[in-house]
Amino acid sequence: TPRTPPTDTAPAGLRAGFEGAVHVPGDPGYDEARTVFNSMIDRRPAVVAQCSSEADVARALRFARDQGLEIAVRGGGHSVAGMALSEGGLVIDLRRMRAVEVDGNARSARVGGGATMSDLDRATQPYALATTGGRVSTTGVGGFTLGGGSGWLERAFGLACDNLLAADLVTADGGTVHTSAEENPELFWALHGGGGNFGVVTSLTLRLHDLPAMSMALLLLRPENGPEAVRTYRDVMESAPDAAGGACIYITGPPEEWVPEALVGRLVCAVLVTYAGTEAELRDVAAPLLALEREAEMIDAIDYADLQCMLDDPPGMRNYWSAEYLDGFPDEAVAAFCAGAATMPVSSGSQHVLFPMGGAVARGPADYPLPWRSSPWAVHPFGVWESERDDEQAKEWVRRVRASVMPWAGGAVYLNFIGREGQERVVAGFGERAYERLSRVKARYDPDNVFHLNHNVKPAVA
Ligand code: FAD
Repeated sequence: TPRTPPTDTAPAGLRAGFEGAVHVPGDPGYDEARTVFNSMIDRRPAVVAQCSSEADVARALRFARDQGLEIAVRGGGHSVAGMALSEGGLVIDLRRMRAVEVDGNARSARVGGGATMSDLDRATQPYALATTGGRVSTTGVGGFTLGGGSGWLERAFGLACDNLLAADLVTADGGTVHTSAEENPELFWALHGGGGNFGVVTSLTLRLHDLPAMSMALLLLRPENGPEAVRTYRDVMESAPDAAGGACIYITGPPEEWVPEALVGRLVCAVLVTYAGTEAELRDVAAPLLALEREAEMIDAIDYADLQCMLDDPPGMRNYWSAEYLDGFPDEAVAAFCAGAATMPVSSGSQHVLFPMGGAVARGPADYPLPWRSSPWAVHPFGVWESERDDEQAKEWVRRVRASVMPWAGGAVYLNFIGREGQERVVAGFGERAYERLSRVKARYDPDNVFHLNHNVKPAVA
C-alpha cells in the first residue's frame, strides 16, 4: 500500500509526546531548521524533528522508519556536503541537546550530541581544562569527534576521538546502547573515526586535560615571503614540543585594526603558532619564525575558548573543500603548496591551509579507522566564496591544489575534511582493513543502512 505522504498532518503521530519541536514545510521555523553552514546546500526535508531527549530521538527514528522516510542526523550542520539534511526525508536535529556537564575531579565532560565546540570550550575553560576541539567554535562536537577530530591541541592531547571515554547511542532499531572500552567495545572502536554510521550519538563523554596557559603567535607576511616562511615553519615544527601546533594559511587580508591597510583584501601568508603554555615558551620555540620579515603580528596569551573562535567564518557562504595527507614535505612540496595560493580566489573567505601533524596524533592507537594519523603534514584547500557565479572557479582551484601535491600524498585522507568524492576515497579515509571491520560492526548495529547520509560504510554481507 502506498505510504501516506508526509504532509503537515502526517507528523501528528510524531508530535504526540514529543518534547522538542517538529517543523514541516510552510512552518515559520522551517527554513531556519533546514539551513546548514554551507549555503550551497538547499535541501527540503519533509520533517525536521528537533529532539530534546533520547526518547525524542527514538520516537523520531521509529516514525521515520514507519513512514519510509530517509533519515539524516544533524549535529552542528558543518558537513560540507550537507549530510545533515535529507531531501524529502526526516532530519533528526540534535541542536536542542547541547548540555555540557564538566566533572573537574574526573577530568571529563559529558556532552550532548548536538553541542557545538563553543558549548564545550566555554564550559571547560573555568576549570583550566580542555580537550582537542575543532578550529572554529560553531562545529558540532558530535560529527567532529566521531569522524576523528583534528584541532590546535592534537599534538599535545591526541585527536578528539582519542579522548572519547564513552558514548550513548540510539541505534537503527530504536533501542539505546551505552558504549565504552568495557561495554560494547567493538562499537566503541567504530566510533573512533567511523562517523555517524552506527546510530545517533545522544551524548559523548570526553577526557579533559589540564591547560593552565595557552598562547599564540600570528604573523602576516607578503605572499612573496611565503615559501621561506613555510619552510621555516616546517623546520620549527619538525622538532617542536607537542605543545606547539598551528598552521600556515594563505588568506585574504581581513579588514581588522591590527592589519596594515596594504594587506587588506590582498593575498597574505599567515603563520600561526599555537602553544599549550606561556607566551615566553612560545617565543622560545618559535624564535626562527619571529626572525622573519613580516608586515603584522599578534603574539599573546589567550584563553583557549577565545582562540577557538579566532577563525570563525561567517555563515551563509558557499563552501567546497578537500585535503591531502603528505608522507613528507620537502622544499619541492613547499613550492607546490605555495604556488597553489597564487590561484586562490582572493577577496573570498577561502583559505589554503597547511597543518602539521605528529606528536600525540602519530602516537595514537594505530588500529582506529584513521590511517592518515601517521602522516606528518596535511594540505587542506578550503574554498569559501559568495556568489553562485564563482562556483566552478572555486571548485577548480581546490581540485588543482590537490593535484599539485599528489607527488607527496600518501593516499589516506581525513573524511571530515572532504565532501563526497566517491566510495574509493571513503575506503581510503578508513583504510581497507579497518573498513572491513567497520562493515561488520555496521551489519550488527545498522544492517539496513538506515544511517547512510555520511561517509558511508556498507553493512557486511553475512
Ligand atoms: P553535521 O553536518 O551535523 O554532521 C556531519 C556528519 O556527522 C553527518 O553525517 C551527521 O549525520 C553526523 N553526525 C553529527 N552529529 C552526530 C551525532 N551526534 N550522532 C551521529 N551522527 C552525527 N574538522 C576538524 O577535524 N578540525 C577542524 O578544525 C575543522 N574545522 C572546520 C571548520 C569549518 C568552518 C567547518 C565547516 C568544518 C570544519 N571541520 C573541522 C569539519 C568538521 O569536523 C566536519 O564537517 C564534521 O562532520 C562536522 O560535524 P557537525 O556535527 O558540525 O556536522
